[in-house]
Amino acid sequence: MTAYDVVDVIRTKRDGGTLSDAQADWVIGAYTRGEVAEEQMAALLMAVLWRGMERAELSRWTAAMIASGDRLDLSAVGRPTVDKHSTGGVGDKVSLVLAPLMAACGAAMPQLSGRGLGHTGGTLDKLAAVPGWRATLAPAEMLDVLREVGAVICAAGPGLVPADRKLYALRDVTATVESVPLIASSIMSKKIAEGTSALVLDVKVGTGAFLPDVDAARTLAAAMVNLGEGHGVRTSALLTAMDTPLGRACGNALEVTEAVEVLTGGGPADVVEVTLALAGEMLALVGLTDADPAARLADGTALDRWRAMIRAQDGDPDAELPTAPYRQTVDAPATGVLRRLDARAVGVAVWRLGAGRARKEDPVSPVAGVVCLAKPGDPVEEGQPLLELHAESPERFARALEALADAVEIGTGPAPPVPLVIERIGA
Ligand code: URA
Repeated sequence: MTAYDVVDVIRTKRDGGTLSDAQADWVIGAYTRGEVAEEQMAALLMAVLWRGMERAELSRWTAAMIASGDRLDLSAVGRPTVDKHSTGGVGDKVSLVLAPLMAACGAAMPQLSGRGLGHTGGTLDKLAAVPGWRATLAPAEMLDVLREVGAVICAAGPGLVPADRKLYALRDVTATVESVPLIASSIMSKKIAEGTSALVLDVKVGTGAFLPDVDAARTLAAAMVNLGEGHGVRTSALLTAMDTPLGRACGNALEVTEAVEVLTGGGPADVVEVTLALAGEMLALVGLTDADPAARLADGTALDRWRAMIRAQDGDPDAELPTAPYRQTVDAPATGVLRRLDARAVGVAVWRLGAGRARKEDPVSPVAGVVCLAKPGDPVEEGQPLLELHAESPERFARALEALADAVEIGTGPAPPVPLVIERIGA
């Protein structure tokens, strides 16, 4: 491959030009191999953040990221494969339900996931609350679980898009995370390399989302759908509301318990609504339009797949989940209607209680979290508990309570109705 002068590549982007295919291939490959210095890639990322990328340029940049590692072949699974990716929300336990639900509907869901960072939790951290459950599987083992159970959620191995590992770490420390082409290529390179034949994106919008604004979320969704389709993965996106936590439980073990409630045919109405909307999209993409996901939640087949999925990774689906030794409530300051319960504030509180990590090496607490005892629209009385905070040690409460200082608004009259599923973007 032709070697380029990296300063020329940076200058091209700095001045608003378009990287050629060969330049994109070279700079990603050379950076992954350690032949482009961190400060040079940092400058290029900042230029991309300011200048953006053309559609074809972003597609090639993403292809170069995929080519930095292995692209899995799931053709031996014997069922249509379909995955879902959420841009991250507070209380978002939907993947835990969707994986066994897809299996129960005749599809297979391969979800290779990362650990959570920041105020939205990671799916692996949630499952790690199940006694014995193991996130790390060898590639052959992952394929076996997918074939036998129809669903697998496990840690992405080091061979999956190594370019993204380096780029993401660099973006994190250079204020270049918030760029649509960089986010889209980061997410989609990993999903395309994972080998799924179809993908539904849940792009969150609202205070608890990575991108609070609907226009930015729409732009990101369109960029990701375009990348997926361009790389042979049938892709669509739903924009869904994230102004208030999804469901009542936020925190690792708490969310697993709520996911099992949904798999048992119950659970909070908002979690069920988002789950079924995403399930419908996923099944449509792989042509399983006769499947009835609501019926599979009600008749226990999805729960049966959950138990098989947990057991296949050495977890005990019958084990009691750990619970927090310390609890504290936040009570309603007035009588009226709960008009706002802010997702970001709850997410930060959950994180400060110990459920999330600041650095990727940090341990997380399986039991820490917040239970929302009331949701927007509910009538409340002064002094009634609204939130229940859970922690492993009482020192955690003070900083969590600070995060919640402006989280709640009580007024008169009904809360304005907010649609959960805002928009669909896809072919
Ligand atoms: N998640 C990712 O994997 N990458 C990003 O850039 C943002 C969120």
